[in-house]
Order: sequence, then structure tokens, then C-alpha cells
Amino acid sequence: MSGTIASQFTDTPGRRAAAEIIATLRDAGHVAYLAGGCVRDELLGRVPQDYDVATDATPPVLTRLFRKTSEVGASFGVVLVKLHGVVTEVATFRADGAYTDKRRPDEVRFSTPEEDAARRDFTVNALFLDPADTSAGPHGRVIDFVGGLADLERKVLRAVGDPDARLAEDHLRALRAVRLSAKLSFTIDDATRAAITRHARDLAGVSRERIGDEIRAMMAHATRAGAVTTLAELGLDAPVLGETSRTTPPHILARLRPEAGLGVCLAAWALDRGLEVGTTDSQLLVTRWRSALCLSNDERASLSNILQTIPTIERKWDSLGVAARKRLASTDAFSDAYDLVFVRNTSLAGRVSEDMASLRATASGLSPDPLVSGDDLIGLGLSPGPGFRVLLEALYDAQLEERIVSRDDGLRLALELAGSGGV
Ligand code: ATP
Ligand code: MG
Repeated sequence: MSGTIASQFTDTPGRRAAAEIIATLRDAGHVAYLAGGCVRDELLGRVPQDYDVATDATPPVLTRLFRKTSEVGASFGVVLVKLHGVVTEVATFRADGAYTDKRRPDEVRFSTPEEDAARRDFTVNALFLDPADTSAGPHGRVIDFVGGLADLERKVLRAVGDPDARLAEDHLRALRAVRLSAKLSFTIDDATRAAITRHARDLAGVSRERIGDEIRAMMAHATRAGAVTTLAELGLDAPVLGETSRTTPPHILARLRPEAGLGVCLAAWALDRGLEVGTTDSQLLVTRWRSALCLSNDERASLSNILQTIPTIERKWDSLGVAARKRLASTDAFSDAYDLVFVRNTSLAGRVSEDMASLRATASGLSPDPLVSGDDLIGLGLSPGPGFRVLLEALYDAQLEERIVSRDDGLRLALELAGSGGV
């Protein structure tokens, strides 16, 4: 191991729990290693999200050896072990059978570490680590059946075995390649790239839920613009989104804050792909992406609201009154939409930002609690009906514009408006 491989690892509760599970298995006469993404991340000096253990112990043995286990994936050889409050996935070494549903192997056969490495997607994801054997370094000993260490050094993502066969087995691996290459700043090996491009259209057959999850994971990372560029280069954007391919650079997406949420990321991606907001195209896109990415109701609403708020800011802000501006600025979608307007039209965004500062500085602020409630109106002798809501809205507008500044002001205005039949 040389330069690019980290010589230190971060001691976390997850790492300690996994190491303890491995020690317990070892004491019981089994082989057990850290496996997959956690080994890759640790060798790269990154803190793994979670630690997975691979072992020759079978699920019944695991449930006997550990007190707190959950067997949700036991038929695939996966048992969850809870230790010191940390849940670790412990999987029996296995060889996967055919993938007829393109989702899960039809059958799994418990097997050797070597075969377990061979079923994994990319060489850098197929490494094992024996944390107890520190003779070679503080991490432990790396066990590499597939040339993963050399690829890790070169920062290359390469399919284990024949790329065409591996892509054909599970087309989702194409998206995993895009996501991991962006996240790790790795290049995708030429033969793997070629296989992904050849199989790009087959992605349409993968479950929309799995596709959506991969896109969510891509968007959750600061490298999202890189991922989107690679998606388009490999011809994967069309099957992912159910649209024709667009290779325009994702410059709006590239300027979002690292922690931007899914809705604003998708909205930025849509704009980068040439969406004209404020047209029926927006609604059509939301419907299309909802099914293409299996968006939840909240995710769909967030995307839709942001896309609708952009033209409201861009076309109407200057002509809106104080109450309408405050109302708009208090909607969930406003700050995300504003971030996108900022990239599209900096001078307008500057004006909006100044206006917002003065709106916030008003005594009532942006979204005060209403001075007058429905109960107050009933107390005044008004009977609930269709006009009620209109009256309350009018009173709230008056409050936002500071025409009323107390509950008494509000009650007086309520009687006036109700009496005049104006509402
Ligand atoms: P992340 O850091 O995003 O979690 P990861 O590589 O750990 O990346 P996981 O989905 O947690 O990804 O999977 C753990 C391991 O399981 C992978 O490192 C890989 O060895 C294997 N794996 C996951 N998905 C596939 C797949 N579709 N085909 C083959 N092997 C897979
Ligand atoms: Mg993982």
C-alpha cells in the first residue's frame, strides 16, 4: 500500500461495534472481515456511513452468537446485529445466482470470501479488511481478490469481472457507478464505461423506486453536478427521467449549497435541462419525474412549488404589495426558489433581498401570528360561513401591512368590513 491510501482510520462507535462482532466470530472459530463500501472509504481516509461485516457463519449461527439480532434479510444471508446501540449488517459470504427480476438474485448460495468478492459490483467495493491483523498497518490486513487496491490507488471504478455481464445482471450498477465516481472523484474505467453506455437503455427496466433512491443519493451529495454530467455523457439521463437526452452543462445545479434539499436540486436540474418555468411544461415535468423517480407526495410538492414560485418571483415581485410579498416570502418554497432566481437573475435577486430585509424589519415581521381569530369573529356575533375565511384573510393582510397593530384594531376593522358587506 502506498501514498494515496490512508494510514489512519477514524475510531467511531460503528467501527468499534463491527470490530467487536468480528472478534466474537473469530473466537467462535469463524472467518469474519469488514467488507464493501466501509473498507473502500476507510482506505481513502473517509469516514464510512456504516460498517458491514462478511463472515462464513450462517444466519442461524449469528442469531445464536449475538443477543440482539434481526433476521429481516436472513434468506439472503444478512442478519442485523445490535451492539452498544449500533446496528451492523452481518452477511454470510455468498455467491449470487441469476438476476431474472433485475432487482435481487433469484437465489443465493453460501460460499467463500473469494466468491463473495466476485459477486460485488466494483473492484474497490469488493475488498475485505481483517481489523485484528495489524501487522501490515493500523487498519488491519486488506484481502483483495479482484485488484481493488490497485484501482483504489488509481482512483478508478471498474466492474468486477466482465463489465457487460455484470451490467446486464443488474442495470442499477450503472447508476451506482455514476454516483460513486462523482462522490469519490474516481474515473470510470473505459471498458466499464462502454458497457454502461451499451446497456443505458436497459435501465428503463429497473424498478423506479431503486432508480429514485440512487438519484436521491446523487443529489444529496455536493458533487451532484458532476454526477449529472456523467449521467448525460453515458446516455443515462434519458432512461432515468423518461425524456430525451440533454447534455447541457448543469451550471445551476453546480451553484447550489452543498446541503440543498432534493426539491431544489431537482428544480435546478430541470432548469439546466432547459425547462421554461411558468408554462404547462412545468406541470408535465413534475408528473413525469414523479413517476420516473418514484417521488413521494412531499418531494413532488416541493419540486412543484419551487418551480411555480420562480416565475412568481421573476414576473410579479416588483408589482406585489407588502402583504403579498410577505405571504410569498413565508411559503416553504420561497427560499429554495430564491436561490435559483439568484443564479438566473442576480440583479432581480439583489432587489428581492433588499426588499426582504425591509419586510423583515417591519414591526410585524414576515409572518406574525394573526391578531384576530375565527373565535374572535364569532365573539363579535358574526356567524361562520363562506365569507368568514375571506374576512380573516383581509384582516391578516391589514396586519401584514400594519394598518392594524392590535387585536382591538382588528376587531374594529372586522366589524367595519362585515358591516360594509365588502367581504
Ligand atoms: P455507500 O457509501 O453509498 O453506502 P456502498 O458501496 O457502501 O456505498 P451499499 O449500497 O452500502 O454501497 O452496498 C454495500 C456493498 O454491497 C457495496 O460496497 C458492494 O460491495 C455491494 N453492493 C451493493 N449494491 C450492489 C449491486 N447492485 N451489485 C453488486 N454489489 C453490490
Ligand atoms: Mg454502504
